[in-house]
Amino acid sequence: MIDFIPKIHKYESTVGMFYVNAFLVESANSVVAIDATLANSSVADLRSMINDKIKKPLVGVLLTHGHPDHYTGIAELIKGFGDIPVISTEGTLSQAHSRDAEESGYLGSPNAFGQDYPAVRVFPNQIVKDGFKVSFDDVEFTLEDLGPCESDDDTTWTINIDNVEHVFSGDIVYNYMHTFFRDGHSANWLKQLDYVQQKYNINTVFHGGHGADYGIETIYWQKSYNLAFLRLLKELVGEKPTLNTEEQQLLFTRMQQFLPNTNLLFLSGWQFDDMVNALRIDGIL
Ligand SMILES: [Zn+2]
Repeated sequence: MIDFIPKIHKYESTVGMFYVNAFLVESANSVVAIDATLANSSVADLRSMINDKIKKPLVGVLLTHGHPDHYTGIAELIKGFGDIPVISTEGTLSQAHSRDAEESGYLGSPNAFGQDYPAVRVFPNQIVKDGFKVSFDDVEFTLEDLGPCESDDDTTWTINIDNVEHVFSGDIVYNYMHTFFRDGHSANWLKQLDYVQQKYNINTVFHGGHGADYGIETIYWQKSYNLAFLRLLKELVGEKPTLNTEEQQLLFTRMQQFLPNTNLLFLSGWQFDDMVNALRIDGIL
């Protein structure tokens, strides 16, 4: 009998304009999810991929980072699959808890997701550290903790299929979409983009949290986007506490030059003043 070659199934949600991805890794007898999207309707699509298309049980969920568009759907996703592991680092768990406390009221409101926001959220139940390895069937997943980058703790999960590394890279690269700087860890983020770019090779496939799959070349794009954004913001804000509406508009009009679309534009202006503060604390502004 020929061994089953693992298959990666991608799901991209367009609900609520998040364009967030989740991935299902199918092995001989089971399925593992990487991230879980946010909205009930997205999770229903993901579950239908598992139950109607793949037709194998979900045996684990691996989380890349603790932002709401990635963890909020976990409760609905794992329903009926028993007491399965939901795995992340401590940093990812603690950010998921704090973001849930801060934002679930807004995200569940009629102005945001309303009824499409999961009434119950479930958080990781297995906390692991950098270098952790776990196998489901014959597929081995390795966690790398990059520390605070786009979120308070960004991690990657890597598997090897036929000598090609597949890296589930969360939101360290957005792949031609506006990028979220609210958490303010831009210095370490740039450092880790350099590191990831050096570590992998031309055949590596990155499966990111937003946008199409990519290779190491796209990491150059993300670095440029980050450097340009921070440079323009620094000039515009100077010593002022924040930017006014016109200045923010100028910033995003300029940043639009990097992009073929306006995806996630709303996200880059989200909590703008807090973002400026966070970037000041990080020392980049
Ligand atoms: Zn995201």
